[in-house]
Parts: sequence; structure tokens; C-alpha cells
Amino acid sequence: MADNTIADVPIEIPKHPRVLCVAKRGRECWLLEFRCVWCGKLHQHGGGPLDGEPDAGHRVSHCHDPWSPDGYELVIARVAA
Ligand SMILES: [Zn+2]
Repeated sequence: MADNTIADVPIEIPKHPRVLCVAKRGRECWLLEFRCVWCGKLHQHGGGPLDGEPDAGHRVSHCHDPWSPDGYELVIARVAA
């Protein structure tokens, strides 16, 4: 019996995938910025007050691409000087 099921498995996007971002100092708070793999644009999220460490973690998605998830888990890859 031929088994072709692997070809039929759809790409599974985790509900809240991890996304690497760069933390930058904004005017009033940390900014978490990343180039979106779904739509190709830059998305920016607030990352907490500047007198503390940048705060990543779960965010509701800013992406309007139909393939993008509702939210993601931001992981800081680099803190920009
Ligand atoms: Zn996007």
C-alpha cells in the first residue's frame, strides 16, 4: 500500500510561535522590533520602561497577514546600543 500522507500534511503554525526581536531604546519605553516573516514588514511592540530591562514575552499580533498567528512569544535576540 502506497503511503503518500506526508505530502498532504499541512504546514502547522504554532498558536503562539517564538519570534526573535531586537530591543531598542525608544523615547519613552523599550521598543521590541522585528521583521515579520508573514508580511515582510517591521512590527514594533512596547517593551517596558527604560529604567529596567526590556520586557519581551507574549504579545497580541500586529500583523494583518491572513497566515499570521493571533499572537506570538517575543524573544529578545539583541539589545541595540
Ligand atoms: Zn506581519
